[in-house]
Parts: sequence; structure tokens; C-alpha cells
Amino acid sequence: MEDKQVKSSTLCVHAGDYIDPVTKGVNTPIFTSTSFGYIDVDQLRYPRAQNTPNHQAVINKLCALEHKAAGLLFGSGMGAISCVFLSLLSKGDHAIIQNDIYGGSHFFISSELERFGIEYTLVDGFTAEEFEAAVQPNSKLIYVETPSNPLLNIVDLEAVGKFAKKHGLTSAIDNTFASPINLIPDDFGIDIVIHSGSKYLSGHSDIIFGAAVSSQSIIDAMFSSSMNFGSTINANTCYLIERSMKTLSLRVERQSANALYIARALQDTGTLLNVRYPGLESSHGHKIAKDQMKGFGAIVTFETPGDPDEFAKRLRIIKPAMSLGGVESTINSPARSSHMKLSHEERQALGITDHLLRVSVGIEDAEDITQDILNALQ
Ligand SMILES: *Cc1c(COP(=O)(O)O)cnc(C)c1O
Repeated sequence: MEDKQVKSSTLCVHAGDYIDPVTKGVNTPIFTSTSFGYIDVDQLRYPRAQNTPNHQAVINKLCALEHKAAGLLFGSGMGAISCVFLSLLSKGDHAIIQNDIYGGSHFFISSELERFGIEYTLVDGFTAEEFEAAVQPNSKLIYVETPSNPLLNIVDLEAVGKFAKKHGLTSAIDNTFASPINLIPDDFGIDIVIHSGSKYLSGHSDIIFGAAVSSQSIIDAMFSSSMNFGSTINANTCYLIERSMKTLSLRVERQSANALYIARALQDTGTLLNVRYPGLESSHGHKIAKDQMKGFGAIVTFETPGDPDEFAKRLRIIKPAMSLGGVESTINSPARSSHMKLSHEERQALGITDHLLRVSVGIEDAEDITQDILNALQ
């Protein structure tokens, strides 16, 4: 099932599945044990080593979708992100990091790396030329996110892939927003693909986990740190993730189609300010997004003319709630959730105003969701 010719929707259902030799059941059985035999076995197993059939089923499914060879699972997206940095970088190394990224990642970088003697440059830009200016002799890693959270800026991944090769850097991307249904960073030469699986991969707002997939050699280099840091998940959670991922392409395709419909309708009203969606010609990097993405994702942002909380309270279907990526449409204020750890000045510099709202579009009827927003505007 790792054949690149096989389409994503097929891989979502079949890739990585473990066929139980006793019953030939269509689902991977849940191997609940944390204690496994050591005599007459093909390998020693332990959940923290991520080598139970349930861990392997999830890793193999995600690897097939991301065109990668190996992977690791973590207790959260931040578990994956912190492990990438802390396993691959050492004292004296330097990382080049896009400034406009998920608030939690930004806070991790600005509050933890220095203590470990890891140097970094946060780059206010999205192009290879802008990243180029940050290169130092000790640079080892470039870290990007596209579309970015919450401003949906687009990074040209082909340029970043070439830039990384030219300077011998390992490239890493947070692919949470696009999901492998809309974007396969490996196609552009990006080495490590990270997910907050708490979003689209699980898709029902009920699981927290993270993942990093890459080449066998990079995952081997991360493995010992991941064992030491110990952030993994158990078999029951793996099973739920596997079950969720079977419908990943159905959900994300519907969510992306809904988001495009809603973004166009909202832009047409002329009442909401700065409607942003990578599928709109007016949005940042639309041309690049069109070339590198299969769909434009399911996050739409805009600024309300009035009080954003009063606006959110008038919604009937869309729930004012944190996080994103579930089957239900939600709305939230990045300034008061994902980016609240940043100072007001840092947010202003990034363009995250107090009036900015971010809609995570679900699988409901696109017309109903649009109408809900239009009604709340009145
Ligand atoms: C939510 C999110 C994270 C963090 O994931 P957790 O599972 O909450 O740790 C990282 N990156 C992006 C883009 C996110 O949206």
C-alpha cells in the first residue's frame, strides 16, 4: 500500500492495516499489553518504543499518505515539535524558523531553546531569499508552517526544499493545517513532516496526539531521544486514530470545499474585513498555494467590524470554541487562544489583531454555515 500511484483516499482506508492472522478481521485488533514476551519472539516490544502493531498501523498509514519511510507518535503535537528540535539540535547549533507559526510552537522556541544553548533566528518572511539572510555557519535546521496559523500565509516549499539542500540543512514543516490530503511536503523535498494529530488526523475533537514522519535515517536519529523523553500514546488511542484516518480524505475534501464556498461568500458581502483564505485570489501566496496544494484547507479568517465576542455569541451553528479540525465548525479568537502567550506587541507585529476571528470549517452544509455568519453580522 506504499505505492505512490495509489490515491490518498485508498491509502486512508487501507494503508498500514494489520491483518489478524486468526480471524482475518478488517480492523487492526487492539493490542492492549504493555508487557510482551521475550522468548521465541521476532522482536522485543514496548509501547514507548512504538513497535506494537497498533503504533505501527498508524505510523505506516501516515507514512503512506506523506510519502515518508518512517515515523514516531507523540502525546501531542507539541510533543512532536519539541522532540524534532531537541533530538536533532545540540548546544551551539542554529535553527532558521518562520516567525508566523502556531503560537505554542513560537512560545516553545522562544522560551526553551536558549536554555539548551540552541541558537535560532525567527524570520519575518516566507521566501527563500528572506530565509537566506538568516543562514549562519552553524545552521542545521529550517522550520516552516504553511498555510500558517492563523494568518494563512503561504510558504513556497519548492524554494525552501532547494534552499535547505543548498545549505545542507534539515527541513521540517508543520503540516497540520493542510493535512496530507491537501499538501504532501515530500513532493517538494521537505525532510520532516510534523502533525498535531489533535486536528484533522483525528478529526472529531476527541483525541490529542502528534506525529513526525521522515526518512528512516532521520527517524533513527530521533528515536533514542523520543524514548528518553517518553511522550507516546497507548494502543487504544492508536486504534481510534486509525479509525479516524480512514475518513480523513472524505472529511478534509468536504471541509476544504465548504471553506472555499464560505470564503467566497464572505468576501462578496464586503462587510467583513480582510477575509483570508488561500483559495481566494486576494489571499497571500494564492498562486503558490494553487501550485503546491490539492485543496486550500478548511480555515478561513476575517476581522469583524464590531465586538468579536458579541459576534461569536450571535452564531447558532458555529460554536465559539478553541482548537480546530473537527467535523463541527468552530470559531475562535487567536489573540485569546492559540496566540495568547505572545505579548500584545508581538501579536500586532504579526498582524494578529484583537478583531481577528478564525473559522475552522466542518462538514456541515456550506450554505447553512455561510448563513449563520451572515445572520450574526446583522
Ligand atoms: C494545535 C497545533 C499544534 C499543537 O498541537 P497539540 O496537539 O495541541 O500539542 C501545532 N501546530 C499547529 C499548526 C496546531 O494547530
